[in-house]
Amino acid sequence: MTLCIETRGDLRKLFAGVRPRKYKDTEEGKERYCCRCKDYWPATLEFWWPLNRGDGFHSWCKACCEERTKELKAGAPRMKRRA
Ligand SMILES: [Zn+2]
Repeated sequence: MTLCIETRGDLRKLFAGVRPRKYKDTEEGKERYCCRCKDYWPATLEFWWPLNRGDGFHSWCKACCEERTKELKAGAPRMKRRA
């Protein structure tokens, strides 16, 4: 059991170095990472839709949300199913 927990801790450490940081400090202020376009945008309501959970912002930037809405309207599948 102990081994299992330790292994998981190691994996988490490993991923922490690989996964992009959610926030980045720039000269213009705080920027937030969009997990869809893999880019950073200023952490303001101008670029992000508000959300009543997590850190208060949607995980996709506004441009990605709009793109996704267009895709759905065009008949794109809602979610990729896990095999
Ligand atoms: Zn985006």
